[in-house]
Amino acid sequence: MASPVAAQAGKLLRHLALRPRLLAARSQAVQLTPRRWLNLQEYQSKKLMSDNGVKVQRFFVADTANEALEAAKKLNAKEIVLKAQILAGGRGKGVFSSGLKGGVHLTKDPKVVGQLAKQMIGYNLATKQTPKEGVKVNKVMVAEALDISRETYLAILMDRASNGPVLVGSPQGGVDIEEVAATNPELIFKEQIDIIEGIKDSQAQRMAENLGFLGPLKNQAADQIKKLYNLFLKIDATQVEVNPFGETPEGQVVCFDAKINFDDNAEFRQKDIFAMDDKSENEPIENEAARYDLKYIGLDGNIACFVNGAGLAMATCDIIFLNGGKPANFLDLGGGVKESQVYQAFKLLTADPKVEAILVNIFGGIVNCAIIANGITKACRELELKVPLVVRLEGTNVHEAQNILNNSGLPITSAVDLEDAAKKAVASVTKK
Ligand code: GDP
Ligand code: MN
Repeated sequence: MASPVAAQAGKLLRHLALRPRLLAARSQAVQLTPRRWLNLQEYQSKKLMSDNGVKVQRFFVADTANEALEAAKKLNAKEIVLKAQILAGGRGKGVFSSGLKGGVHLTKDPKVVGQLAKQMIGYNLATKQTPKEGVKVNKVMVAEALDISRETYLAILMDRASNGPVLVGSPQGGVDIEEVAATNPELIFKEQIDIIEGIKDSQAQRMAENLGFLGPLKNQAADQIKKLYNLFLKIDATQVEVNPFGETPEGQVVCFDAKINFDDNAEFRQKDIFAMDDKSENEPIENEAARYDLKYIGLDGNIACFVNGAGLAMATCDIIFLNGGKPANFLDLGGGVKESQVYQAFKLLTADPKVEAILVNIFGGIVNCAIIANGITKACRELELKVPLVVRLEGTNVHEAQNILNNSGLPITSAVDLEDAAKKAVASVTKK
């Protein structure tokens, strides 16, 4: 069953990597894994790729239309491709708030690059993968355009089902790959890679063949696939996606687009990469939350959710929907254990004027429920909480936590389980 949240809350999708859908295309199972935090822009991903022997086009990055014009002249190319830099895909078919159609443009005239960049930079670009209002474009990529004779799809992902990396490819690239997976699952090919042994020549060759690369192009594609895999490992990526992974009439295999996601747990050993983190697309409240190691996602209902873990966040949002309510946001405490984080979390959740009730759903595994309970009572008092609060705690030290809440004299509604919590939270906002 598709999650009602996934269907209704576009923004939540940014928090959760949906690629496993692709992996599960044949078995129809839907899995959601937490979206890790770091995402790089295309130009940053391509720099990493080209530094590691992966073939990308020559390019410059520009912050102003004038810089874009100068870059186009400097490239001295037969044709130029101008690309808006936002983290979402589907840019080619996107629309700017300036009225300009298309986040990817080809032209032979550097002057046109300047004119188009003027209608891109500073405007919002809305695509199938962005919120309705789009995402502000601060930078454009100016690259040497190459002719494309064929577009294929290639990705390397960490796959839960096989507990390791998997190559996913399709000869049908350039387009929305989820659609290919849904309509032509036989055109999605996979190779599970043993992380200890690494990628085998035979696997890279087979993938290149499945992608339809013929003759000398097959070896070239296989070589690129191996280099992409080695990069994936080296930089602790959770996903490297190249769409299109294309071929030119001159017989070159080129990565025309690039999207790389990283494992947050590797931050300590990938300092240079994490220093590139571009937070400009985050909402201020998301950045504020990140300062306290909290993850905030704004949604459009009226029940604030305070949870730990992306899985519990999904479940909480789903069960609110199923009981006729709508989440206003959710704040993920992750593995956090500090009372001060709980206080900050409440501060952030209640800063949203849409919030009419708060639902706390915390599972104490690593987290001690008593610490959460103390944080909650402290926050309620200091912030003079004015909206109903429903709390469901479970796990480590839950009895002491319950006592703290019950003896606090605060109007806190306890819930025995998730269903009960959702029902009580929904009732508290519909009563009025
Ligand atoms: P996306 O729409 O955000 O995925 O952006 P892409 O970088 O994938 O570009 C969208 C489409 O523009 C690609 O699928 C290609 O068809 C086309 N495109 C991008 N770069 C070039 C290029 O250098 N030459 C040509 N001929 N087409 C390109
Ligand atoms: Mn693309």
